[in-house]
Amino acid sequence: MARFAREAARLADASKFAEQARRAAEAAKHLDASKFAEQARRAAEAAKHLDVSKFAERARRAAEAAKHLDASKFAEQARRAAEAASRVDREQVVAEASRFTEQAQAAIRAAKNLAELERLRIEYLGRSSQLTEVKKLVRELPVEARPEVGGVANRASRDLEDAIKVRAEELAFIEREARLRAEAVDVTLPGVPYPKGSLHPSMRVVDEVVDFFVGLGYRVAEGPEVETDYYNFTALNIPPGHPARTMQDTFFLDEGLVLRTHTSPVQIRTMLSQEPPVYVVCPGRTYRRDSDPTHTPMFNQIEGLAVDRGITLSHLKGTLAAMARHVFGEDVKVRLRPSYFQFTEPSVELDVSCFVCGGSDPKCKVCKGAGWLEMLGAGMVDPAVLEEVGYDPEEYTGFAFGMGPDRMAMAKYGVADLRLFFEGDLRFLRQF
Ligand SMILES: [Zn+2]
Repeated sequence: MARFAREAARLADASKFAEQARRAAEAAKHLDASKFAEQARRAAEAAKHLDVSKFAERARRAAEAAKHLDASKFAEQARRAAEAASRVDREQVVAEASRFTEQAQAAIRAAKNLAELERLRIEYLGRSSQLTEVKKLVRELPVEARPEVGGVANRASRDLEDAIKVRAEELAFIEREARLRAEAVDVTLPGVPYPKGSLHPSMRVVDEVVDFFVGLGYRVAEGPEVETDYYNFTALNIPPGHPARTMQDTFFLDEGLVLRTHTSPVQIRTMLSQEPPVYVVCPGRTYRRDSDPTHTPMFNQIEGLAVDRGITLSHLKGTLAAMARHVFGEDVKVRLRPSYFQFTEPSVELDVSCFVCGGSDPKCKVCKGAGWLEMLGAGMVDPAVLEEVGYDPEEYTGFAFGMGPDRMAMAKYGVADLRLFFEGDLRFLRQF
């Protein structure tokens, strides 16, 4: 048992002893020797628990006196023993209480966190704490000692509760501060560098062309890269067995599917899904079995389609001339040459005047002295195609065109080999 509680217990023992001694003195008055000896024996017994030699000695002397029936001497010894017991031990209890309170307060002030503080609260104020034991003992104390010891115990409880409350507030503040510091963002730290990418040269041209047509009011349309034979060929006026099919170096897949050889199937899908007028531009990847400096198995294509009442070849020429000026500069001129495509009639090829030399340099690397660059194929939509999608060719006409943005990028940026575009070599791509 800790000292504070132990002192209170001693005080309780002393109280028992004093009571025994009082009874012994009472017996002595009546010279009742045997009763008196018994009382003295009990007093000595009580004194043993006190573990205080002074009391034990006094009790022993009282017992000795009793033997000789020296009543008055015995009574005096017993009275002194009782007085000393209650006075000395009471002072001891008060002193221990204040020492206990000080130590506990110091421990509470030193608590490092709220969990430790809670452990201390249980230790000092809990059901099996010293203070609780002392409060239980008060009842056993001499009557005159009860208010003092009880008061001391209650004051110690209040002081410790106050100390715990103060420390709890301090710790809550400290822990909140620490959390805020830990979660804080240091705005003075340098940012994490994020490598800046750039657009692929083909994509730059695709964006420029698509932007131009969107500016004219065209809608962007897209479709699957794996197509059925019907959308890729038959609906475009290229029925099975037609010699035009062999020109397309097609990748055939299982179950009648192909990798689309052009973005024209998107035009068919668009027309089948809506009524005229139609104004769409269709960028996308296409595939053909071909690989040399100017051909790759995968390449980009942009097609466009306009179907409306009164569309003529001059609308086609004006539109494509404006597009060429948008992409290659205000000074370029265009020319149309007759050509052949299965799904347009008449069909044309559109050439753009060389945007590097303007046709004045016989050694020009871009046009190779020709002064013109082949840019795209186009034509008026074949009435058979319009009929196939359910449009009335007597009421509607349209034009369609298809161009290769990769080839256009080669010309624009002076790249000799198309395959460089798709090898994924960053040293090449970082130049754009
Ligand atoms: Zn040139």
